[in-house]
Amino acid sequence: MQVDSEPMRDELSINELRRRLAQVLPGLLQNTVPSDPPNGEVEPAFFARLRGIPTVEVCRGGEALGVSPFFIPAEALDGPTAVIHGRETLMLGSNNYLGLTRHPEVMEAAREALERYGTSCTGSRLLNGTIPVHIEFEEEIADFLGYPKAILFSSGFMANQGALSSLCRRGDQVFSDRDNHASIVDGMTGFGVRYVRYAHNDMEDLEKRIKSFEPGPPRLIVSDSVFSMSGEIVKLPQLMQVARRHGALVYLDEAHGLGTLGATGRGAAEHFGLSDKPDLVMGTLSKSLAAVGGFIAGPTVAIDFLRFCARSFVFSAAAAPAVAAAGLAALRILRREPDRVEAARSNARYLANGLRQLGFECSSGTVPIIAVQAADAMEGCAMHFALVQAGVLTNMVLYPAVPKNEAMLRISVMATHTRQHLDHALEVFETVGKKIGMIGSGDARRRERAVK
Ligand code: PMP
Repeated sequence: MQVDSEPMRDELSINELRRRLAQVLPGLLQNTVPSDPPNGEVEPAFFARLRGIPTVEVCRGGEALGVSPFFIPAEALDGPTAVIHGRETLMLGSNNYLGLTRHPEVMEAAREALERYGTSCTGSRLLNGTIPVHIEFEEEIADFLGYPKAILFSSGFMANQGALSSLCRRGDQVFSDRDNHASIVDGMTGFGVRYVRYAHNDMEDLEKRIKSFEPGPPRLIVSDSVFSMSGEIVKLPQLMQVARRHGALVYLDEAHGLGTLGATGRGAAEHFGLSDKPDLVMGTLSKSLAAVGGFIAGPTVAIDFLRFCARSFVFSAAAAPAVAAAGLAALRILRREPDRVEAARSNARYLANGLRQLGFECSSGTVPIIAVQAADAMEGCAMHFALVQAGVLTNMVLYPAVPKNEAMLRISVMATHTRQHLDHALEVFETVGKKIGMIGSGDARRRERAVK
C-alpha cells in the first residue's frame, strides 16, 4: 500500500491520527491492496505474491505512518507498568496474570539456573537437553492438576501443535470450537486428520455435529478453556456431558485458565466444580507462570507416546534452563499463594465495572481478560493509539482475529495491579474515550449498544 511516508511521532492530534489511519485502514475491507516493490524493482514471483495481502499492507502502512498498534517496543517492563516511548506506561496488555515475572523467587530461580546450566540446553529433551528442572516441572504440574503425568514443551504453541498432530489419526472424529487458538488448528491440519468445527461455545451444535457421524472411530473434542480474545469461558459441564454421551474424549487448552479459573487456579474443571475432568489438558508457562513453555497433562500412555512421537518435542531444543526454572518457581508460588488468583479476578471485575459505568461496551471481567468493543477499526485504532499516548497500553484486536469490520481492545489485568493503577486506567479511558468519541456522546449511544 502506498502511503505518504512521515516520521515517527510522539504526540499526534486526534485529527492527524484519524487522517493517517484513514490512509491505511480501508485496506482491511479489501481483498487485495495495491503494493509495488520499492523503486519498481522486479521481484521474483515467489516474493511478489507476498504483496497485496490486506492485513500485511495495512500494518506496513500503519508502521510507515507511525500509527501501527503492533510491535510497540517497551524499553522496560516492570509487571504492572512499562516504559514506552520513554514514558511510564500502565501495562494493560500482558498475560502476566499473577504478576510473577518480577517476583524475587522467580527471578532468583532463573538466575540460579542460568549460573548452573548456562544459557541454553542446546539440544532436544530426548537426546541431551533434559535437566532436573524440566522433570520437576513435569511432576509438579501433573500433581497440581491431578493427572498421572505431564510433558514440558518449549512453547504452548508447540505443545498444542505437537500433541494434536501426533495423537489424532486419519479416520478419527475430531470436533473443534471454531474460535480455538491457532496452535490447535495447526495441530489438526496437514496430517490427514479431518476435523469438524462447531459453532463457538455452542454445545447444541457440537452435539448435532457429533450425531451426524456414525459411531465407531475414536472421537475427540478440543476446546480452549478461556477464549483468548474475548475472555469467554468454555461451557465445560455441558461439553463434558455431550462428550460422555457420545463416547468422546476431551482435550482442553488451559493457556488462559491456569492461574485464573477456580479457587486455586487449576482451571475450568475447578471453576465449575467438576469431578469428571477433561482427559488431556494443555497449558502454557507464558501467562500465569511468568515464563515461556507449554505442557500437556494426561494419562501415562499418552504422555509417554508424546515424549517419543510429538515432533515439536523430539525435534526441537528443550526449554532454556532459566526459563523453565522461572516457570517452576512461579508454579510453586501459585500453589502456595492461591489468593493471587482471586486478586487478579477481583481487579478485572473492578476495572470492567468501571469501564461499563463509563459507557464502554465490554465483557464482565470474570477472568482477567476484558474485551472492549469498538464501533469499527478506525475507532479501535484511534482509541488504542491515544491510550498509548496517554500512557496506557492495551492490545488491539483487528481482522482476522475478529470479523472484517469489527475491532476491539483486549485488556488484561494482573494480580499486582493496585487500585490506584486501575483508577488511573479508568480516568485515562474516560478522557481518551470522550476525545475519540467512543463514549460520552450520551445515552443515545449507550441505548444503541443495548439493543445490539
Ligand atoms: N493456546 C492459547 C489459547 C493461547 O492463547 C496461546 C498463546 N497466545 C497458546 C495456546 C500458545 O501459547 P504460547 O504463548 O506458550 O506459545
